[in-house]
Amino acid sequence: MSGTYAVAVVGAGPAGFFAAAALLALKEQEVRVDMFERLPTPWGLVRAGVAPDHPKIKSVSAQFAKTAAHERFRFFGDIEVGTDVTRDELVDRYDAVVYTVGAPTDRRLGVPGEDLPGSVAAVDFVGWYNGHPDFHDRGFDLEVRRAVVIGNGNVALDVARILSTPPQRLASTDIADRALDVLRRSTIEEVVVVGRRGAAEAAFTTAEVRELAEMTGATVQVDPADVAATDGEADLPVVAQRNLQALREYAAQAPTAGGRRISLRFLRSPVEIRGVDRVEAVVLGANRLEGGSAGNPRAVDTGGREVIEAGLVLRAVGYRGAALSGVPFDERRGVIPNTAGRVDGGNREYVAGWAKRGPSGIIGTNKRCAVDTVRTLVADIGDRPARGVDADVVEAWLRERCPELVDLSGWAAIDAAECRAGEPQGRPRVKLCTRDGLRAAAGPVRV
Ligand code: NAP
Repeated sequence: MSGTYAVAVVGAGPAGFFAAAALLALKEQEVRVDMFERLPTPWGLVRAGVAPDHPKIKSVSAQFAKTAAHERFRFFGDIEVGTDVTRDELVDRYDAVVYTVGAPTDRRLGVPGEDLPGSVAAVDFVGWYNGHPDFHDRGFDLEVRRAVVIGNGNVALDVARILSTPPQRLASTDIADRALDVLRRSTIEEVVVVGRRGAAEAAFTTAEVRELAEMTGATVQVDPADVAATDGEADLPVVAQRNLQALREYAAQAPTAGGRRISLRFLRSPVEIRGVDRVEAVVLGANRLEGGSAGNPRAVDTGGREVIEAGLVLRAVGYRGAALSGVPFDERRGVIPNTAGRVDGGNREYVAGWAKRGPSGIIGTNKRCAVDTVRTLVADIGDRPARGVDADVVEAWLRERCPELVDLSGWAAIDAAECRAGEPQGRPRVKLCTRDGLRAAAGPVRV
């Protein structure tokens, strides 16, 4: 044993907790983990991304809480690396730094009208209904008749489902109260979900397709022509075959009158978002599929155009990574450039999760990804002795720099306050959605 290694993990989402768990479980090396998080709360997208009506998916946080309870783990929340403390300061104080900062922003569509009021990034909308403090003050006008969701991933289906679910059903979840109020005033009758490629190429998964009707009670409309049987279908990935089956069941349903509708449209790309002072319509271009590798053809514009009136456009075309001051960043791919998790050009720096491989996969995908990165880190450490920086000295430095930092006891106080507020309403919790509210609930600073 070459002493206790100190590793800083930056970002308290799934990749961060999977990395921490892997580090703490090492047999040959003893590691202590300090986790830094810019919000006062841990769990990343499990708290601020997973839809409120998906409580089972959120239950993975119990596993993260076990990691957090480890005697060699500390949480330093409400500290932004790159602003409150620098990358150099961490590199100076730790044997290694692991960035698990995710992909906090949205990809752009790059079409005229994208920035009109009423054209919204799904990333922001999701953050808002999940009580992320950065999006609390955002105003979303749902008093419109039709919303168009661009994209065919699970985020597109999440937002379509939330917009179509009767608010009284959402009232028993941990959805942000402000969002629930706005959803109660919604006048949306139809949500149109637009995929640029075909039904067989959609990125969403089958459970989420089925939930569209099951969880909302809305009528889901699919054009039978979009899901007609084709040669070679048996060679498609299993998930695509299952998606087609679920979509065909929708296509076979007789049209119903009244009630909310979700229309799934395929082979259409937005080419323009129109409106004078706000969104009034979306111009869709018709596509055909061409080339590409098997199962992965490209969408090509046929020149056909169609105008759909809409008062709200949600752009759900993927998350995007953001640069962290002082840390290398690949602008094109939106990731921290790395080789097997080791930051290219870094100094004992590593990366895992969406910041390493881009915004794809389910929560569990980050476990394998984090374990791979930890394997690289351990191989690099070899038999290098630990630097032996005193943990108490580091904590004293942090508390001086960020007197209001939220540690595990502060998070426990926030958690208890939220759960207590939820109890009388039969909800898992009532989220505190502002930094001030979260800081106040964390209680006085404990030194
Ligand atoms: P995603 O799965 O990558 O889907 C992005 C979608 O946007 C794709 O359909 C993509 O089409 C489309 N797209 C990209 N650029 C476009 C453009 N310029 N014009 C039109 N369409 C465009 O991303 P996501 O939905 O943000 O989800 C991120 C990850 O989180 C995924 O792995 C997802 O499964 C996961 N997630 C899971 C759940 C769940 O399990 N319930 C919930 C939410 C998110 P192409 O395929 O043609 O590129």
